[in-house]
Amino acid sequence: MRTLHSLRLEVRRKVRSQDVLFIFNALETLRVEEFGTLLEDEVEANLVPDQVILVVREPMFAQTFELLSQDPQVTTALARLGGRSVVTLIGYNLKGEEASRRTLGGNTPALKVELKDIRRRALAAIFSHRHGFVESTSTYHFENPSGRHSDRFIRVSNILTQGAEITFIAFCALPMIPDDVRQAYIDTPALFTVVAAINEQWRSFDREGLLVDNFSSYAGAKGAEFDTERSFVLISASSSGSLANELTGLRGFPARQVVHLLFLGDNAAQHTVVGDLQLDALLNPDGVTRTTVSTANDCVPCRNGSHAIKLQGDQFEFAGPQHDSLLIKSDDRPPGLDGLMARLAGTGVFAVGLGASGKPPRQFEVSATQLMAAVPFLERLDYAARRSIPARTGHIIAADPQSETLAHHIRATAAPQAKVVAREAIDAEVDKTSDTAIVIVATVIESGRTLLDLSRDLRSIAPDAPLTYLVGLSKGTGDPGRSSLAASLRKTHNPYPYEFLAIEEIVLPASSSHNAWAAEAQLLQRASASRVPAPVAALVKARLDRLRRASEALADDLFLGNGSDRSLKLQPGFVFWPRGLPEGDHTQAEVYFTIASVLQQLRANAGRGGKPGKSAIRTNWFQQTLLAPGNFGRFNDDVIQASILRAALPAELNYRDRPEDSREMGRLIARILKAAGVDRGGAAAEFLLALGTRRLQLRREDLDIVLKVEVGGIDLVRWLQGVCAETLSDV
Ligand SMILES: [Zn+2]
Repeated sequence: MRTLHSLRLEVRRKVRSQDVLFIFNALETLRVEEFGTLLEDEVEANLVPDQVILVVREPMFAQTFELLSQDPQVTTALARLGGRSVVTLIGYNLKGEEASRRTLGGNTPALKVELKDIRRRALAAIFSHRHGFVESTSTYHFENPSGRHSDRFIRVSNILTQGAEITFIAFCALPMIPDDVRQAYIDTPALFTVVAAINEQWRSFDREGLLVDNFSSYAGAKGAEFDTERSFVLISASSSGSLANELTGLRGFPARQVVHLLFLGDNAAQHTVVGDLQLDALLNPDGVTRTTVSTANDCVPCRNGSHAIKLQGDQFEFAGPQHDSLLIKSDDRPPGLDGLMARLAGTGVFAVGLGASGKPPRQFEVSATQLMAAVPFLERLDYAARRSIPARTGHIIAADPQSETLAHHIRATAAPQAKVVAREAIDAEVDKTSDTAIVIVATVIESGRTLLDLSRDLRSIAPDAPLTYLVGLSKGTGDPGRSSLAASLRKTHNPYPYEFLAIEEIVLPASSSHNAWAAEAQLLQRASASRVPAPVAALVKARLDRLRRASEALADDLFLGNGSDRSLKLQPGFVFWPRGLPEGDHTQAEVYFTIASVLQQLRANAGRGGKPGKSAIRTNWFQQTLLAPGNFGRFNDDVIQASILRAALPAELNYRDRPEDSREMGRLIARILKAAGVDRGGAAAEFLLALGTRRLQLRREDLDIVLKVEVGGIDLVRWLQGVCAETLSDV
């Protein structure tokens, strides 16, 4: 255990300066061995100081001086100073003021160092050494209980960790404590230790200790019962003095009875302050600069997409995860999504993969075959080829087998002299000395890994050939980090960057094996193990059979209709598609891809580099954005509702911590179940699947409303309602 608190500092006065080793003794007696070791270590690490100042309680002053001059352990240690420094012993009184001073060895010090020279600097040094600030990162900053935003805040408990330091901090506070007080009010429990250390020092002077009570800062200041007679308030830290103003104004404390332990702000001089942390080149070189505090409206970190974490209580604790709910707007769609859908809706390019046995599902499947057959795509492709395929192209490399059609198409339309080469054959086929252009084509890419691998190989195979990467459709997660794919592919030591070109781009989430279809199959399988009523059995079996045909992707059978004659359809006027669409055929998959793309863009908006002011779905320790129940009112086509239910992540539809949203969602689902026989209720079965698989969660009381509502003669919906009641009995 350490009983000495030390600080090495340069004390300056006009032209003179002195190197001082300051040592505060936190006990009633001096531990000579610790003192000796401290001196030796200090001399070894930082050379001999000009002056050593030892500060002790006045009642032990004489006894300590005797030790310094006679105790062999101490005198040996002092001998290490080689007679080059002066040792000054200072005794302090009940008020923390100097009561006695004697020097030992050396000459009279050239500079008289006072306790007031040291207190503020030593406190600032402890503050920075113990990391008194909780600092923000580029992703997070803080919202104080007062509602103001800042990039850091003082947590006083951070600096109250070590016994000798706490005693020293209490010693610093002694001069500010009014005479004759019996009671201390503290704003945070961390200060109990400081008052205990005050009491412990007072006992050496036979002074009765303080009673102490925590009033919990702003939250408690209004209701607390203060006795302003013979008492004082100790505030842990402040930048404005506003809590002190409240206590002096409303609660009638005289200003000298309200003491700040730490203060970092402009008007420290107007308050009673123990440790003014403000940086001052001469008086407080270890101090810190002021913290920028602003209102939410003009907060720079907020504007840069950083998230403000709410702080609460007298300890500035993080207030658990905050939920907010989001209404999807038409301009939340990723740029270019409407144009893409105008070109590709109705072409059968998009489908939901179920994952052939042993392989992870490619949930967002893009058919290379259908893409190469889509006329609007081919028109764009041909324009791009005319613009960007070099006349002297020697080779066209197909990045994977499904890209070979594209490779031959490019050859036929733009580079008839070129040779089409398969990925595996490049070593054999591409001449190392060739400097004619090489075109690398990939019909569909997700991470772009294949292209990156190829680019590495080609760097050594054909270092001088100009490369052109041409991608049919690029799926990205919208994460700003993704744009580095194009940047990495363009990189070369050749005089001009390589070319990278994507004909179509779409923002989509990464595929996951925990998707809505896997959950649906599990639920139906489990439920159909018990007796299923005859009219429903055939429907459930057909659905399960379909979900088990994993090699066949879902295009127009993504969703479970309420009966065999009901499938979910889009009405004219889908807000994310251009006016006039859908004209003719479109698939459920196209609607689902559209919604999945919009939601993924909203998630990407929350990431680093997200555009300030944009709506975003945030998922982190401190915040979870929910999809507002109002979305299902706004988008009342059954196929859109079902798409949202399946494209949302379970956390985005978990209303259990939001009573109002849960109630609204429960009522909305109940209305849809009642209307299960008409278009308005077309997604009834889908809502029940979402509930039964816990991808959508309600509070018990709201769930009960849904489970008890009369659904009429729709057998499948009524059966699913029963399945939910059984499955969710533990909610
Ligand atoms: Zn902010």
